[in-house]
Amino acid sequence: MKAAAFAYARAASVANALELLTAHGEGAKVLSGGQSLLPAMNLRLLSPELIIDIGELDELRGIAVNEGIITIGALTRHADLLKSPEIAAHAPLLTAAVAHVAHPAIRNRGTIGGSLAHADPASELPACMLTLAASMIARGPKGERRIAANEFFAGIYETALAPQELLVAVELPVPPKNSTHFFHEFARRHGDYAIVGLAAQAFVRDEQFADLRLGFFAVGDRPLLAMSARKLVDVAVTPKVLSEASSALDDELAPLEDQQATPAMRRHLARVLLARCVSSLLGRADLGTGASP
Ligand SMILES: Cc1cc2nc3c(=O)[nH]c(=O)nc-3n(C[C@H](O)[C@H](O)[C@H](O)COP(=O)(O)OP(=O)(O)OC[C@H]3O[C@@H](n4cnc5c(N)ncnc54)[C@H](O)[C@@H]3O)c2cc1C
Repeated sequence: MKAAAFAYARAASVANALELLTAHGEGAKVLSGGQSLLPAMNLRLLSPELIIDIGELDELRGIAVNEGIITIGALTRHADLLKSPEIAAHAPLLTAAVAHVAHPAIRNRGTIGGSLAHADPASELPACMLTLAASMIARGPKGERRIAANEFFAGIYETALAPQELLVAVELPVPPKNSTHFFHEFARRHGDYAIVGLAAQAFVRDEQFADLRLGFFAVGDRPLLAMSARKLVDVAVTPKVLSEASSALDDELAPLEDQQATPAMRRHLARVLLARCVSSLLGRADLGTGASP
């Protein structure tokens, strides 16, 4: 199928993109890498009147680390994140996660801003933003605002961005030195959207979690920062403690049914991921098998 007819404008600057967005409102769609927008248009799931191509706005591209904050421009491509030494050094969870986003051809065009604005609940990067306590920087007709990741994702393909706003960058606090991470997803093939995934970051002291952030994806209509992680912090993690955390996690999940999995299967896989994550981060092989509460 082909897309319905649409008008096309190449934005000359961020200000120009914002003018166009303000003038056309919900009839317009921003085009970044086009890896989600164009398939949706070709399937006639979306039929915008106007496409505003921001792909040449170099000011929205790049990675910088200053005073404990990593700033990533919205147009930074997945491929750039994957090979960035700054990201590998300061946010290795992101490097691990991006390797699972689609395939090289898609990573060469797809952007972090497009992935976050698209807000697919099975996407890797939105969950990483929750885990890494990111802020999204949105610019609109009234200026700039920062939106915490836990307020940004509002449902399937829904975010807190207003139709006249552009996502211009994300900011991540540099995790404390000696933080560790875990990333794993179940997918039918490497590069497919996840059936269930987990992006976790931890700080381990004296064989206990001093901090643990668990960002699950494909377990509901949006990524989930699991509060059940608290049950594992500042305690000696025994199989019983893990089992209680696993039950608490189950209460937080609201998995959906699709062609890939039933809700029950997603719940099971989330518990398996939790056990593997805790086992891996604490270096405790005895905890890694517990799937059932
Ligand atoms: C075969 C295939 C497999 C894929 N597998 C995965 C996968 O495993 N994991 C995964 O996460 N993704 C996957 N994707 C999606 C891919 O990662 C996209 O690159 C990404 O979701 C969107 O990025 P983009 O730059 O291409 O955005 P676009 O397609 O250009 O835009 C996506 C949406 O975001 C909006 N938008 C874009 N940029 C901005 C901005 N700066 N401000 C406001 N709104 C904006 C657009 O209007 C549109 O609604 C896959 C895609 C394909 C085709």
